[in-house]
Amino acid sequence: MNLVPTRIDFARPLPPLTYLAPEGLAPGCRVRVRLGAGAAVGIVLGPDPSPPDLKLLPIGSVMDPFPLLPPGLWELLAFAAGYYFCGTAHLMALCLPQAVAADWHATPPDGRGLAELRDAGAFDELARIGEAWHRGEVPIPRLFHRRSRVGRGVSEIRRTPLPLPKKPLAAQAKILLALEQEGGVMLESALLEAAGVGASVLGTLERNGLIERSRRLDLLSQRREEGLDRRVELSPDQQQVVDGIGGGFGVHLLYGVTGSGKTEVYLELAERALRAGKRVLWLVPEIGLTPRLLARLEARFPGKVAVGHAGLNASEKQADVVRLLEDGAPIFVGVRNAVLAPLRALGLVIVDEEHEGSYKSEEHPRFHARDLAIKRAQIEDCPVVLGSATPSLESWQSAQEGRYRLHRLRERPVGITLPTVEIVDLRETYRVEHRRVVFSPKLVSAMGETLRRGEQSMLLLNRRGFENWWLCRACGKTLECPHCSVSLTYHKGAFRLRCHLCGFETVPPEACPACGEARLRGVGEGTERIEEDLAALFPTARILRLDRDTTSRRGALEAGLLAAEQGEVDILVGTQMLAKGHTFPKLTLVGVLNADQGLKIPDFRAGERTFQLLTQVSGRAGRADRPGRVLIQTYSPEHPAIACAVAQDFEAFAASELPFRKAMAYPPYAYLALFRSAGRSLEEAFGLLQELRGRAEALPGSRDTVRLLGPLEAPIVKARDNYHAHLLVKATSRQGLGRILTGLDPGPAAHSTLDRDPLSFTV
Ligand code: ADP
Ligand code: ZN
Repeated sequence: MNLVPTRIDFARPLPPLTYLAPEGLAPGCRVRVRLGAGAAVGIVLGPDPSPPDLKLLPIGSVMDPFPLLPPGLWELLAFAAGYYFCGTAHLMALCLPQAVAADWHATPPDGRGLAELRDAGAFDELARIGEAWHRGEVPIPRLFHRRSRVGRGVSEIRRTPLPLPKKPLAAQAKILLALEQEGGVMLESALLEAAGVGASVLGTLERNGLIERSRRLDLLSQRREEGLDRRVELSPDQQQVVDGIGGGFGVHLLYGVTGSGKTEVYLELAERALRAGKRVLWLVPEIGLTPRLLARLEARFPGKVAVGHAGLNASEKQADVVRLLEDGAPIFVGVRNAVLAPLRALGLVIVDEEHEGSYKSEEHPRFHARDLAIKRAQIEDCPVVLGSATPSLESWQSAQEGRYRLHRLRERPVGITLPTVEIVDLRETYRVEHRRVVFSPKLVSAMGETLRRGEQSMLLLNRRGFENWWLCRACGKTLECPHCSVSLTYHKGAFRLRCHLCGFETVPPEACPACGEARLRGVGEGTERIEEDLAALFPTARILRLDRDTTSRRGALEAGLLAAEQGEVDILVGTQMLAKGHTFPKLTLVGVLNADQGLKIPDFRAGERTFQLLTQVSGRAGRADRPGRVLIQTYSPEHPAIACAVAQDFEAFAASELPFRKAMAYPPYAYLALFRSAGRSLEEAFGLLQELRGRAEALPGSRDTVRLLGPLEAPIVKARDNYHAHLLVKATSRQGLGRILTGLDPGPAAHSTLDRDPLSFTV
């Protein structure tokens, strides 16, 4: 076997290293090597044309016979690694769990076994087999180890590619027939019932390799609602959108209010892609909030949907990845990381609620799934549909400039009307009541009426806990976290003061730690306090609070939402997690307690986020046949984010916000990169950034291309005992920014300091 110098990448803060590896080993294969004193898994990047002048170590062993990732995905990883300045191996770890490994005993039809080819050093031949396998030309029975197939949850049975036995037993034939009729995959319970046989038959079939059993979390077969699988006839508007989305690459922005029928458009497009023999990648911001969507999908495409989300454990993730690699599910619905899912032959990419911040990873590698989805569609030459009722201004502006194609759904289908949205001017309330009030009289009376009608209200306050902070009325100090520069929040039920940043908690002191006076007092209110006040205002109402504190247990949020959906709750109170993607048939009143809250955050997107939140939460009211009413309490009703949300007019908001972005040179008119640095002292944190700034200024052409801001203290300067600083790089072109960042590249060890296209600026 001929060994040649080969570059290997690791999911560690290291540059790629050169080892000796078999000639012909394809880029994308994983290998085990010695690294320092230990062992590591690395990814083959390719031969090293100019190896270092050192004695090179040979690799330990080859893990993959050929790259398991489809070629298009490998290309996406290469792009993302270059764009976000992170190693390919870091990204690969997100799409292929290490435990998913090929079975070297597998033998392609009419060929030699994989292990045999490996031992003969025929890696060229293996690479060719892999390419043919990815093209769907060579089926390889049982390519994967069994252990990557098991998981918790319901048991699912699927047919393997092995040919039918010549003379199956009657019971076995019944099972195989029933499976065939359902497209090759069924839940175990449904299969046994359909075939009318006992479970022992399955064991025999499984041992003979005719079927496979996998376990998965039961997200899909959750209760089916009436009418979910009902097919609607698309409205002329919807049909026009579908017709306007071709089969080749194009970015389509689908803009329409909640309930305007966007999902029906996605479903139609998905069906079209499946008919063409292609696969569908469907991204959603959060799985926990979309049981209805999953049920709709499963009803329309039974057995064809796989789901990936953050709550899966390792073995469930492995089972999913194997299922995708074996083409076991042509539709994959998932959250952020799903953009890297190993599906082949994509025919459609959907990014639902494309404006959601959860698509951006806030840890290294800090990619944006929406942006990678666009790149992936380009590589696969298929359309990508970004849908939203409140598009991000970046996407909106791209559509205005003609780079994306804009499609609108103007009306809600018959029978569903937009809610009426009203302002409650808290300045007015203050003049009348002579004190700050949490619940305006108008809101209280509206809630009373809603209760009497037997309908539901929802109150939004984006702050959990009981009181926001504790203030000493003797010395004026507030109680701060000892590790962070934020105040502690009082949680009454737990009787603790807590830091919402680092999780520090302490029993509330009786006296001020600074001056010793026992004159501490809580200020401001959180959801816990609201819940208590509501119980006093409406003693007979059934109240449910949903926030991070009440939903930390797995399944608690889902259970709460379900109870609310089924009308077992009169008043829902919670944080923004209530605003998103759920339908409550009895909900007719939405109250926003303090709409100004998000506007005070030092972030140029504060207005945009406030507008989105208010619009989304308003969209919850009155979806079914009852008209909805929304009351927005605010001290600044003239603020465009609030005024436009009241008018339910996204375009007016965009028109008022965009000139400000342009004047201040912020996205979408500029491209940003943020270098973050943390140190034991502010000086230390500033040091690295100062050095970067110096280097940036010395780069040729940098003065014309970028503006540098900083080093500056981060808005939350101290977090978890570290001091945080920022250096912001602004450019008017993406390419220009890319050139400067490449020149500045702080090296793999410091790549995690760089955040390209940042969304969060607090720490
Ligand atoms: P969105 O995704 O924009 O929130 P949906 O596609 O979920 O909107 O549509 C909202 C509701 O209207 C759903 O119950 C859906 O089945 C129904 N609907 C959508 N389009 C039509 C149509 N053309 N005819 C009848 N009902 C429709
Ligand atoms: Zn803290």
